[in-house]
Amino acid sequence: MSSSEADSGASPSFSSASPSSPGGASSPSAPGATPAANDTIFGRILRGEIPCDAVYADDHCLAFRDLNPQAPVHVLVIPRQPIAQLAAAAPEDAQLLGHLLLVAAQVAQQQGLASWRTVINTGAEAGQTVFHLHLHVIGGRALGWPPG
Ligand code: AMP
Repeated sequence: MSSSEADSGASPSFSSASPSSPGGASSPSAPGATPAANDTIFGRILRGEIPCDAVYADDHCLAFRDLNPQAPVHVLVIPRQPIAQLAAAAPEDAQLLGHLLLVAAQVAQQQGLASWRTVINTGAEAGQTVFHLHLHVIGGRALGWPPG
């Protein structure tokens, strides 16, 4: 399924989109700052510049299969708004963040999962490699705890 073909189905939704924050906390420009989230590989996926295996899309987010899956089901849910990481989210992003969680649950269930893990890596030391906020939805095998 291409990103344009992803069926939103009975999508969790909200009526007012969160404002984007160009030049704000999600797109820092100071030396050494995190790169702007719309410059990442996920920004390119959102713009249709590179393909993805999409499983869900709506006006606020896109979900697609991870290129390097860590489990039989490994889907990433990303906002269309380029927030670099959870630490850069603002109070006005609360509705969007809630929406991402609801979409993660919907996608997990659509993938046949009754049990899964939702992960948000924040910062390089925690394993974040793409600085566009994303939720990992991982399942389909037993998952150890604590994570590495
Ligand atoms: P994180 O390490 O939390 O930043 O997660 C980034 C994830 O993006 C990794 O699991 C990568 O395998 C995945 N990834 C990177 N590039 C792509 C891509 N082009 N399509 C799908 N997943 C990707």
